Amino acid sequence: MTNIFEAAASGDLDYIKNQPQATLKSRNDRGWTVLHFAARYGQLDIATYLRDNHGELLTVVNGDGKTPAQLAQFWGYDQVAQLLSPPQQEQQQSKEQLSSLSKQVNHVNFFAGSPLNRYGWYRTEQDHLNRLMHATNARFLLFSKLDPLFDKNDKKTGLYWADVEKIKAASLEGALVFLGIDERFVSDKEGDAKEGIPYWALDITVNEKDNNMTLVQLHQDLEKEGLEFSSPLPLGFQLDRESAAILAQARAMVDWHTRNKFCPACGNPVKIKEAGYKMTCSSNETSQCISHNGIHNFAYPRTDAVVIVCIVHPTADKILLGRQKRWPARMFSCIAGFVEPGESIEEAVRREALEETGIHVDHVAYHSTQPWPFPNSLMFGFIASATNEQVKMEDKELESARWFSRSDVLGALKGDGIFTLPPKLAIAHQLILTWATSTQPAKM
Ligand SMILES: [Zn+2]
Repeated sequence: MTNIFEAAASGDLDYIKNQPQATLKSRNDRGWTVLHFAARYGQLDIATYLRDNHGELLTVVNGDGKTPAQLAQFWGYDQVAQLLSPPQQEQQQSKEQLSSLSKQVNHVNFFAGSPLNRYGWYRTEQDHLNRLMHATNARFLLFSKLDPLFDKNDKKTGLYWADVEKIKAASLEGALVFLGIDERFVSDKEGDAKEGIPYWALDITVNEKDNNMTLVQLHQDLEKEGLEFSSPLPLGFQLDRESAAILAQARAMVDWHTRNKFCPACGNPVKIKEAGYKMTCSSNETSQCISHNGIHNFAYPRTDAVVIVCIVHPTADKILLGRQKRWPARMFSCIAGFVEPGESIEEAVRREALEETGIHVDHVAYHSTQPWPFPNSLMFGFIASATNEQVKMEDKELESARWFSRSDVLGALKGDGIFTLPPKLAIAHQLILTWATSTQPAKM
């Protein structure tokens, strides 16, 4: 017995023409319409008939979030895909509206925008490194148990930058990372590095077992000066942008050293090389340790990709925000999650949206990125368009997810709305701000 889906798949146009209107609107258990089947199997005649007589089927998405045109495209039926796609002009308009939302080209987020030239080519040049380490204008950002040293004497609550004299008690071996040079301040003073101000990160954590008395003394001296090791957040948000960017680099590097003392392949201690940017297994290079073979990701600092997305409603007048239980009461933010192996960044956006909220995402437009060195993420920010509106929290990562109108969002941005947003310096806030203040409500 034939049904309409089989008829569409096999190209039986007469059968389709003889079906009542209501039957042609039906969907199977995977959400496919008769037009999905025609598109999947490249049935041009049926696709043409349905387009001309049942245009409402063109925009229906199936259970995988695909329109008939997208299915035809995927299976290589270009002629059918073209037939079922929205008119060129409308597509063009949609692309322009998306890119106008992400038009803040080179938007620099907080924790990015470092003034330093990293001088990567010095990392293997020990003579240069020694000179920059002992330069009288060198600045060292100190860490203890991953907390940077703040100078609270300074009303602005800045970081404390030690000079080489101050830290001479600490061993300059081990947890020392060359951050780069601020070339805006070149110097011809005797003892200074002539290229500019060299920046370093130095971990002076006292190891309870060793109880290194020189380090203990250094800690006491620093405390006497009113300096304090504190968690980088929220104090880091009060820094000027340039200091915050240097802190981001330093914190991520010191964290990497702290958590990776041993070779993950064989358990031998690691050796630090290249001014802190490379680790090698201390086992003999001819040994069986796999880390000596091929390319792998544990010899160099890791940066984990995270996607964060402001999802726009199909009608373009609302956005989808979610909240996690542990967040401050009433705070909502963009949907976010880690990129997994073997997927593109835009696929990660679509997967996270679907898993956390049940929303299918179509166009994904890039906005900007933000380093988030707690410990080593890079947030990729997007504005994307949804094709459905029914929220369903599949993976229970969120406590709640809902659509907010433009006026709700503008209220929250002003601080007097029905909900609150993450701080201004977080990329989520910037994505939401870009959407809420875009001049044309984007129809995507
Ligand atoms: Zn090893």
